[in-house]
Amino acid sequence: MGKKVLVIGEIREGSLRHVSFEAIAAAKTLAGDGEILGVICGSTQLEAYAKEMVYYGANRVQIIENKKLKTYTSDGYSQVILEVIKKEEPDAIVMGHTAIGKDLTPKLASRLDVGLISDVVEIDVIADNIVFTRPIYSGKAFEKKIFVDDMIFATIRPNNIEALSRDESQKADISKLDVEITDLRTIIKDIVRKTSDGMDLSEAKVIVAGGRGVKSKEGFEPLYELAGVLGGAVGASRGACDADYCDYSLQIGQTGKVVTPDLYIACGISGAIQHLAGMSNSKVIVAINKDPEANIFKVADYGIVGDLFEVVPKLVDEIKRIKV
Ligand code: FAD
Repeated sequence: MGKKVLVIGEIREGSLRHVSFEAIAAAKTLAGDGEILGVICGSTQLEAYAKEMVYYGANRVQIIENKKLKTYTSDGYSQVILEVIKKEEPDAIVMGHTAIGKDLTPKLASRLDVGLISDVVEIDVIADNIVFTRPIYSGKAFEKKIFVDDMIFATIRPNNIEALSRDESQKADISKLDVEITDLRTIIKDIVRKTSDGMDLSEAKVIVAGGRGVKSKEGFEPLYELAGVLGGAVGASRGACDADYCDYSLQIGQTGKVVTPDLYIACGISGAIQHLAGMSNSKVIVAINKDPEANIFKVADYGIVGDLFEVVPKLVDEIKRIKV
């Protein structure tokens, strides 16, 4: 028999995060011939987001509009989503393993007194078991887990489970749910974001990352140009951040962001274990480094031994030429 799976959609800077669609694909594996119910919270005009969830495979979507939900607070969002869970009694809940997902889901799981498997990169149905794969030890190994209780609750890492194809002909019931929100203990007055050109590193399909080999703030300019022609984002090693060549919001690694883009281009990065922890699961890794012995070449699919200030502009020119 199919399951009812609740997918918690996430809006960021005016659009539904792509990982919400990936969560719908994950939900499809869990639901079998059951139902995928999407939920979206916000302050206004949520129908368009709900429709997007339908186009990507949700069978029904509930929207909860309330001015107290304008910006995310764990207090407000947990109150309303717990209401939906109480009303709908889903068999499983899925959400993206994003900053909000990491904050919200443990709180919900604890309130529901159920287990949570976080940061899932793969879901398989083996015999009667649903097996969740997640990285451990900073990506050096993977563990496979199953739920022993009936309730399934998981967060999925962006860029790992492929979204279903978008189909605008899909129709589904979109309804509004009124939920009373008691006084919030926190109110967000303002959000100041520091991101790479507004593109979220954890969802970027292409990342061009710079390390201490970039040598200065200005040294990042060719990397921005390369990211620009590839439609990607710029990231960095902690070495580059510590040297003040760029902002810490770009840091990738054990104490930075964990990324899994389709293409990761490491420029002037030695490949310390703490850096690899954040990027070694990228689909294709290209390393540019002057030192042929650099550790980064051990994880790279393609290695270019050379000066990044010569190699990167050549790549930019060549990509521009191919694109014309
Ligand atoms: P370096 O190790 O100095 O490497 C610079 C590289 O650039 C060298 O390989 C050099 O050959 C190459 N190079 C120089 N000039 C050129 C050129 N012109 N062209 C091409 N190549 C050139 N690091 C992270 O990145 N992320 C983390 O999250 C992180 N967390 C950490 C947590 C802890 C607890 C600790 C102890 C460390 C952490 N680090 C982290 C730091 C990590 O150990 C390394 O110090 C750091 O990753 C090194 O950065 P780098 O590769 O840019 O610099």
